[in-house]
Amino acid sequence: MYVDSHCHIHFPELRARLPELLAHMDERGVSHALTVCVELAELPAVLEVASLAPNLFASVGVHPDYEKTEEPSIETLIELARHEKIVAIGETGLDYYRLTGDLDWQRERFRVHIRAARQCGKPLIIHTRQAAADTLRIMKEEGAEAVGGVMHCFTESLEVALEAMELGFYISFSGIVTFKKATALQDVARKVPLERLLIETDSPYLAPTPYRGRTNEPAYVAYVGEQIAALKGVSNDEVATQSTKNFFKLFNILK
Ligand SMILES: [Zn+2]
Ligand SMILES: [Zn+2]
Repeated sequence: MYVDSHCHIHFPELRARLPELLAHMDERGVSHALTVCVELAELPAVLEVASLAPNLFASVGVHPDYEKTEEPSIETLIELARHEKIVAIGETGLDYYRLTGDLDWQRERFRVHIRAARQCGKPLIIHTRQAAADTLRIMKEEGAEAVGGVMHCFTESLEVALEAMELGFYISFSGIVTFKKATALQDVARKVPLERLLIETDSPYLAPTPYRGRTNEPAYVAYVGEQIAALKGVSNDEVATQSTKNFFKLFNILK
């Protein structure tokens, strides 16, 4: 069985189809999914969805791309993270692709998330885009190693993956790894050990081949898993079993 370690099924377009999405997960052998919070205002929706089924989990955090949104404090994040469905802090991190200019606030927000994660003992879900050096530097400065976490929707180099793994982080691959032209990323996926690897959809975005360009959903994580298996020359079962084991270990979930 596969697990979708990162999706946004509380977004209205997916939330409206939830029973169908859960049925598709079942059909494709996807046993669990983690729906990831991107701003505090949507947390009630995140928790409402996660509470509908025992195989759904949630996180709390504010995405680096959200400028005009309630800024979280360490105390707020810790308080909200006490909910039994919340297994992680995030998604948080740095994104110099979508936003430019003075991004001090983004780095400060990232630090707040790491401090909150350390204080409540929950792992981090980290988003990094065109900001790998600063992301790793802040992870080190703030001692993110103490809680670990996942570099989600990984698109960076092997060097960045190795540095993150040294800090105890997992590397999560999305549908991007199934795209024909993503040969550099496919090479990274070949080299990340299965013991450090997670798979995700980041749905509704980034549907894998053969659904590229359409609305993504958790069931499609099976295509990501199959691609990882093909790249590594191992069985689908092996990828499913190990990545699922990694998920439960990282997020401290007792099955
Ligand atoms: Zn992200
Ligand atoms: Zn996301």
